[in-house]
Amino acid sequence: MLDCIFCKIVRKEIPAEIVYETEHWLAFLDIKPVNPGHTLLVPKTHFENLFDLPAERLAEFGGVAQKLARAVKMATNAAGLNLGMNNGRSAGQLIDHAHLHLIPRFENDGHRHWHGQTTPTKNELMEMKEKILAVLSE
Ligand code: AMP
Ligand code: ZN
Repeated sequence: MLDCIFCKIVRKEIPAEIVYETEHWLAFLDIKPVNPGHTLLVPKTHFENLFDLPAERLAEFGGVAQKLARAVKMATNAAGLNLGMNNGRSAGQLIDHAHLHLIPRFENDGHRHWHGQTTPTKNELMEMKEKILAVLSE
């Protein structure tokens, strides 16, 4: 993808603070970190988001994410760490190259998690469960 900014980082056409690189994965610091050490993990091949990642990359994803999460947490002396992946514009995805956010968290760092949580009824939860079960059993 010629115009994709993360593909350009993968091809080393634009600079980034790269912290991890393998044959298939690259991780670099987010230029607008939520907290110091905020890191982005991307597959080197252009896939739009989670829904497009092929099985081979998905099989590696968890292990790579954990390795990097441990390193970022230790390096920043963080108390915790959020993993986040925005998939689709409505989910806040601005760059259409799959990426995982690794955000170190500190006590009282002021970032609230999951704004706008709702309180569905037991029935609503059960109906939703049935919908997801139906899709998964297809
Ligand atoms: P998202 O909303 O999940 O698509 O997040 C895109 C992230 O990419 C944002 O947190 C940006 O700060 C970050 N970002 C955009 N351009 C660059 C860049 N050139 N180098 C590093 N991070 C970037
Ligand atoms: Zn790309």
